[in-house]
Amino acid sequence: MDFDALFTDQLDALREEGNYRIFAELERRAGAFPRARSHDEDAPDEVTVWCSNDYLGMGQHPKVVAAMTDAVEKHGCGAGGTRNISGNTHQHALLEAELADLHGKEGALLFTSGYVSNWAALSTLGARLPDAVILSDEKNHASMIEGIRHSRADKVIWKHNDPEDLDRKLSALPSNATKIVAFESVYSMDGDICPMQEIVEVAERHGAMTYLDEVHAVGMYGPRGGGVSEELGLADRITLIEGTLGKAYGVVGGYITGSAALCDFIRSFASGFIFTTALPPAVAAAARMSIAHLKESATERMRQREQVEKLRARLDELGIPHLPNASHIIPVMIKDPVKCRQLADILMQDFGIYVQPINYPTVPKGTERLRFTPGPLHSDRDIEYLVQALATLWKRCAIAHAVA
Ligand SMILES: *Cc1c(COP(=O)(O)O)cnc(C)c1O
Repeated sequence: MDFDALFTDQLDALREEGNYRIFAELERRAGAFPRARSHDEDAPDEVTVWCSNDYLGMGQHPKVVAAMTDAVEKHGCGAGGTRNISGNTHQHALLEAELADLHGKEGALLFTSGYVSNWAALSTLGARLPDAVILSDEKNHASMIEGIRHSRADKVIWKHNDPEDLDRKLSALPSNATKIVAFESVYSMDGDICPMQEIVEVAERHGAMTYLDEVHAVGMYGPRGGGVSEELGLADRITLIEGTLGKAYGVVGGYITGSAALCDFIRSFASGFIFTTALPPAVAAAARMSIAHLKESATERMRQREQVEKLRARLDELGIPHLPNASHIIPVMIKDPVKCRQLADILMQDFGIYVQPINYPTVPKGTERLRFTPGPLHSDRDIEYLVQALATLWKRCAIAHAVA
């Protein structure tokens, strides 16, 4: 049996559709972010990263780097076990207290990633709550979808960001159902923000629990970086807030926060929490420093907003279409997987601009895009260089269209 042929057949099909994924090999340079060294033969040695989820550059913040290196010196590298068996350290407890405080909740529970936190929490809630029905926004992240699927609970999909549709779907459920409404605050690919107040009100009216993914909002929104739920003063009306330590906080890890009973329940029953080695204590220390810093400092958030506004304004002036939204994410729609890849390749190779093409299955077919995430460390010159490069490519494309 030629197993490799089974693999390569499917890979070839991906390539033909233009959806084969090629990773850029980069060396992030602490102190120089968003500059990175590229190890790709066709690209310049130094490139500017325009698609990082380290939205605020906290991954290289001197306080965060110091917290991690100090903790490595003190505690060594790994945790040495699962949380249950010798891997539960003081740093984990401190971080969970910091997270509970961030969202104004009684408890918090740490996971190895945001993906795992969604997967483990939703699969445990759906599997263990009596007659559970999970009502999932149609654009929810893969980690939520997989968690719901694994729970084997009944699932109802409601129209994206549509509280009326949610209301209708909740009304149709039997009264004995335990209803869980799962949604996100900032949707990462379109950058749109949910109508949280309306969703919460609908859920409350139906006695449903709310499960909110704030992955793209923590550190970024709200006076202390507690996310959109903090900004809108809704955190205490949401049953469970989930987040990541790997995006705006610049480290790695995921978490949930909620009541003490809820966190204890997930801690006690979630396989994805129980049977895996705890995050290294140094990671926990660095993440805690990053959260604590962004609770006090709005400088990074303000500067990021300025740079986002500048890039949007320059794209408008040059006639480069981008999705309007109220967030920090700027999607430039290409709507073709092959062109999207080609544009990204030219930007990288000719201009040293790194923006990963976003293709299916991350977004639906026909909505392929370049997704820009300006941060506080992108200079005005970086922005101008980027828009000039895009304008040049847009002209080239227009010429190609005219000739064809
Ligand atoms: C990235 C992402 C996650 C997963 O978080 P990680 O910490 O990267 O595993 C969860 N939800 C959403 C909406 C995301 O975009």
